[in-house]
Amino acid sequence: MVKILFLAPQPGTYVLGLQLTRIIMKVLKFGGTSVGSPERMKKLLEIVDASERQIVVLSAVSGTTNSLVEIGQAYLLGDKPNAAILITALKDKYEVFIKELFAKPEFLAQGKEVIDYHFGLLSSLANDLFTSIEDKIILAQGELLSTTLYHVYLKEIGVPSVLLPALEFMKTDEDNEPDVDHITAQLTPLLEAAPNINLFITQGYICRNAFGEVDNLRRGGSDYTASLIGAGIRSEEVQIWTDIDGMHNNDPRIVKGTKPIAQLSFDEAAELAYFGAKILHPQSVFPAQKYKIPVRLLNTMDPQAQGTLITNDSEKNQIKSIAAKDGITAVKINSSRMLLAYGFLRRVFEVFERYKTSIDMITTSEVAVSLTIDDTTHLDEILGELKAFGDVEVDFDQTIVCVVGDFATDKHGFGSRVLEAIKHLPLRMISYGGSNHNLSVLVKTEDKVEALRSLHSRLF
Ligand code: ADP
Ligand code: ASP
Ligand code: MG
Repeated sequence: MVKILFLAPQPGTYVLGLQLTRIIMKVLKFGGTSVGSPERMKKLLEIVDASERQIVVLSAVSGTTNSLVEIGQAYLLGDKPNAAILITALKDKYEVFIKELFAKPEFLAQGKEVIDYHFGLLSSLANDLFTSIEDKIILAQGELLSTTLYHVYLKEIGVPSVLLPALEFMKTDEDNEPDVDHITAQLTPLLEAAPNINLFITQGYICRNAFGEVDNLRRGGSDYTASLIGAGIRSEEVQIWTDIDGMHNNDPRIVKGTKPIAQLSFDEAAELAYFGAKILHPQSVFPAQKYKIPVRLLNTMDPQAQGTLITNDSEKNQIKSIAAKDGITAVKINSSRMLLAYGFLRRVFEVFERYKTSIDMITTSEVAVSLTIDDTTHLDEILGELKAFGDVEVDFDQTIVCVVGDFATDKHGFGSRVLEAIKHLPLRMISYGGSNHNLSVLVKTEDKVEALRSLHSRLF
């Protein structure tokens, strides 16, 4: 077993006795493509103004986390030779990367030490019992590599910076919920300890869980890190720098001619992120929303582009954007006992609660209830219990298509426009009125592309 995970000092006992005021400090997050090559990494300083105090959150170099996932899978399968091949292939890429990143032999040697350490750790896992704990250690190496290499690069070019270890301040509790107060308490003294430094570099995505193990905030989690740090230090603004000029009004990977949206409310952005807009991690809006921190989505490849500003404000009377979430399973419970009965829905929900399975969409009639889940880990047990209530039907391979806009209760006409646009497609469920800004329909995944394109051409 690997005992010492990282040489991180024990968290201090710093107690926040003062009321935090807004710190004039921005948090800038750069995604995988934004640090995807030595050239891109060097260009970050065209965006990061080194004369301003700020925290820079980096993802892993693009492709790295996918490779680390594969390495972990090989180990989990006990296929050590394949793990070794994958590790060597990834290391070779980093050997090339550092040769282009560093100009001076002294710093190239430091870069080499960094990659030797991290790849040595990956290889050493072959000697141990391999569990999900070691798997998460593997996944953490991408962000540790990118930030450490960038920190050495800044040293080479003479820009003072501090490398903040995310594993010391980013923590989740027993329910995998991040702890903003812990972030504030741990991060504040680290920032105060370096009053003359402007640039603080840290890892996105990685954290420690309630057991103190290395863990992560799920795929795409660096956005969440940035927002949590923003909340933790009551930052002036969080900027998410990526490879596109903001949140578009539909999925640009599927629909042609999508356009960036200049302004979104936190609620609208949260719905879009949750229902599939990959540009933002599903949970990343909530910390910023809670502490009223503006979030800007900006394009590293086109820094002058306006991007998207997410605040409490929103343009009224508009359909804003469309997103889609795959991998949805619909469950319908038919029960004559539901007729005029109270407490029925509670008992249904309790089944899902017992298996920690969250429900996304729900529709009811007098004798049936349909709902959707995206996590089928405990589906068999859930279905077993639901059968006690009546007949249960399950549909796999469904997609939630979510239209976001200003659908306040005094507005009219939006529902008919949406349904008109997809009248040629079979709909499994429709949900409207749950919030003021979401109209969702459930379609078969095979109909998703047509639904997105048809909605786009008729709504925009
Ligand atoms: P990063 O590595 O910077 O975190 P991601 O790949 O996670 O970047 O997110 C950016 C990508 O999200 C874009 O390249 C785009 O293909 C995809 N995307 C999906 N839906 C949307 C949307 N509605 N608006 C903008 N981008 C979107
Ligand atoms: N590197 C992680 C991933 O690929 C986190 C991130 O990029 O946000 O999922
Ligand atoms: Mg991302």
